[in-house]
Amino acid sequence: MNLSLIQKESPKPMVFVNRTLNLKKISSIGFDMDHTLIRYNSANFENLAHTVMLQKLVEVKDYPKSVLELKFDFERAIRGLVIDRKLGNVLKLSRHSAIRTAYHGTNAMDFRAQRKLYKSTYIDLSDPSYDTVDTTFSIAYAGLFMQLVEMKQNGIALPDFQIIAEDLNYVLDRGHRDGSIKNVVEKKISEFVIKDEECVRGLEKYVRHGKKLFVVTNSDYHYTRILLDYAINPFLKDHKHWSELFEFTITAAQKPSFFTEKRRFLKVNPEDGTMTNLNSKISPGIYQGGCATTFTNDLDLSPDEILYIGDHIYGDIVRLKKDCAWRTALVVEELEQEVEKLKSTREVTDQIDSLMEQKIPLEYEIDALISENIETDSKKNEKKIEELISKVKKIDEQLSPLIRERQSVFNPLWGEVMRVGIEESYFAHQVERFACVYMSKLSELLNMSPRTYFRSMKRPLAHDFQKIAPAADESLSH
Ligand SMILES: [Mg+2]
Repeated sequence: MNLSLIQKESPKPMVFVNRTLNLKKISSIGFDMDHTLIRYNSANFENLAHTVMLQKLVEVKDYPKSVLELKFDFERAIRGLVIDRKLGNVLKLSRHSAIRTAYHGTNAMDFRAQRKLYKSTYIDLSDPSYDTVDTTFSIAYAGLFMQLVEMKQNGIALPDFQIIAEDLNYVLDRGHRDGSIKNVVEKKISEFVIKDEECVRGLEKYVRHGKKLFVVTNSDYHYTRILLDYAINPFLKDHKHWSELFEFTITAAQKPSFFTEKRRFLKVNPEDGTMTNLNSKISPGIYQGGCATTFTNDLDLSPDEILYIGDHIYGDIVRLKKDCAWRTALVVEELEQEVEKLKSTREVTDQIDSLMEQKIPLEYEIDALISENIETDSKKNEKKIEELISKVKKIDEQLSPLIRERQSVFNPLWGEVMRVGIEESYFAHQVERFACVYMSKLSELLNMSPRTYFRSMKRPLAHDFQKIAPAADESLSH
């Protein structure tokens, strides 16, 4: 059957497949907690993180009180951006790590300014002065960095860009550790956590199919318990408590080290959170720390029968795929809106594509005519060239408003998460390389049968678009 037909008839965006994944072969499914099992109201959560960071910058790092007036805007940053701590810029890269959009403070940098600062447009992400926005938990950090750089540019006495970035990392980390963020979430949990009954239905369905479920989270036991009590317990039908649903709940796991290093598991007493050393193989229960190698070996599992689902492209997926060989699924919550926006802009996208199809052959034709002039040292094609240039100009005049119209639907500063112009974004490239499948939320996967065979689609290569670039001779003949 034609796969595109299935997609067209299905009302849901479903699960997107990079690499074939047969759920019948998967015996154990692991879940990250924050932004995977637990859905947040991300705008509210990041607004809280923004407020806490500002308070701590003033209290702990002696920043001027005027920073407290900086307003939060969830749209200021998106996932996949790169922060240049040294130069104070925020960048969006293409799949080849080339800079495609750049902001210094809250001002867009034009191509010339970018070229002046960066000798090569290609960024070496192994350079420690770059930070990446790998999770929605970094949106407030990236946005605030842009605002503080802007303030410094406007003459407010603030430290160097690099120190601003370090201070932000420090206050965000401290806000998470000292309870400034989590205590507020705990008190007003319904403002921050989205209950998802569909997700719990799906989890129990997978258990009925004999799948073993486990959690690996970097959050501590106390916070994990509060969130899972709130979001999972009320919807359970076949189980009394989330600790029965998940055979193993591994807290404070320190991912990505969990996937790459050998660490000991500590057994957590669920009553009071106290911990004891574990001197035997792990058995169902609640743990702290540990590592993927011991987990896989103690349970006598083959790495490829484990599927792990997370939202942190680096912490959950990239290291795991490189070091561990478990299968991977990524939650990209931005897709829920982006897929809708792609649908709503389909008409204008088609108009842009059709104008581009008219424009590209004209450009080839102009280049061929100019070449002929140069090679024959004549001006015989001059008139024709002028005519063609004016045709291209007319097409550009039609294209510009259409492109602007399309862009305005997506993030006003950065556009789509998965693309830069017509290229794939660096984030999309990582998703494609490291996530076997991806979806906007966990319930999209759990709605599918636990027997699903996810097949990857045929991916077009550059030469598949051959019709766009006709041979020069052919175009010259008109
Ligand atoms: Mg997470």
